[in-house]
Amino acid sequence: MTTTATPPMLSLDEALQRLLDGTEALAHPERDTENVATADALGRVLAEDVRSTLDVPPHDNTSMDGYALRVADVPVAGSVLPVAQRIAAGQVGATLEAGTAARIFTGAPLPTGADAVVMQEQCEALDGARVRVNTVPAPGAWIRRRGEDVREGAVVLARGTRLSPQALGLAASVGIARLAVVRRPRVALFSTGDELVMPGEPLRPGAIYNSNRYTLVGLLRAAGCEVSDLGIVPDRLDATREALRRAAAGHDLILTSGGVSVGEEDHLRPAVQAEGRLELWQIAIKPGKPLAFGAVRQPDGGEALYIGLPGNPVSSFVTFLLCVRPVLQALQGMPATPPAALSLRAAFDWPKPDKRREFLRARRDAQGDLELFANQSSGVLTSAVWAEGVIDNPPGRAIARGDTVRFIPFAELLA
Ligand code: AMP
Ligand code: MG
Repeated sequence: MTTTATPPMLSLDEALQRLLDGTEALAHPERDTENVATADALGRVLAEDVRSTLDVPPHDNTSMDGYALRVADVPVAGSVLPVAQRIAAGQVGATLEAGTAARIFTGAPLPTGADAVVMQEQCEALDGARVRVNTVPAPGAWIRRRGEDVREGAVVLARGTRLSPQALGLAASVGIARLAVVRRPRVALFSTGDELVMPGEPLRPGAIYNSNRYTLVGLLRAAGCEVSDLGIVPDRLDATREALRRAAAGHDLILTSGGVSVGEEDHLRPAVQAEGRLELWQIAIKPGKPLAFGAVRQPDGGEALYIGLPGNPVSSFVTFLLCVRPVLQALQGMPATPPAALSLRAAFDWPKPDKRREFLRARRDAQGDLELFANQSSGVLTSAVWAEGVIDNPPGRAIARGDTVRFIPFAELLA
């Protein structure tokens, strides 16, 4: 089984299609829903459409402090009307008699009969009981109409939406106290590599600190997952198989970093083949390249998805954003949304492009043009922190200063 044949080279789009097809065939956490308090639902993904059972606002109301009146009663600027009532927010006034005005405050329901509001800055209170109106109002002025925000029966939030703070506010505005959300995908994570040491431990000769664990736990949590962090697994076949068995139980997805090349110390391929099934791909992107995809048998007869990321810190970061994020969206029932890219000007030259599609770490300068991090090596994690996103550069395309390039902000990829 441990053939060292070169894995097939796939384009990113082909790899994504295969990942999404494999995910669709296997794991469906989005079919399990949980009912959570609206206040606790930030970042969760809606399992059902949220429909409003009411109009918002529920009544016509004023958007200004001022006077509610009938336009017909103000034929000319300077007309004087008796003030017949006072309506504060939360109160309901009486019907407005013709020829009178109502003192009214922002948010208060418009009294029946009124057809405009004049803001107080354009009025003069005369003797406490009358008002001079110094403008001729247009019909409907400063009135917020019933239902102008939300109509009764309307879907205000669609299933598959990741709940932002403002989405929680919108749900609350239609009186929804609890929301049906998708169960978080359960992801088991481990790193491979005998050279890896955890921060807090001394760095013995030949060792490096395990950075991927931190990056990947953060990425998974940001994507809405429940993470079981299984730590570092030694570069041995039996240990790797054992870790896979443990990781498969109770998880939708097993994610690993490192050990997926075809080197002698790369045990993930034979281990996954022994515990399930595996495809190893070379994705024609830089950084990135090796990616393993498959499934590992679970004790109950099911299978957990398996994705093996490359070990180089920038490669694992970028391949996560490009390949794992769409899988996690699918697992949560979110629509597949390719990240929105910006067209920006290059403030640099890139005369020797790779023949693979490159994702160059870049950020905007003060003019809004893109500058490139000097060292684009897949081991230089500083680039991923310095940068604001990646330039998606087609295979073999040289970039000259002033060219327009496709820039994908990390914010797009982390949302
Ligand atoms: P591998 O894919 O296992 O051949 O690893 C490729 C490179 O990434 C090697 O230089 C590893 O030392 C490095 N690497 C692998 N895993 C990690 C990790 N968890 N944190 C930091 N670097 C890693
Ligand atoms: Mg390794």
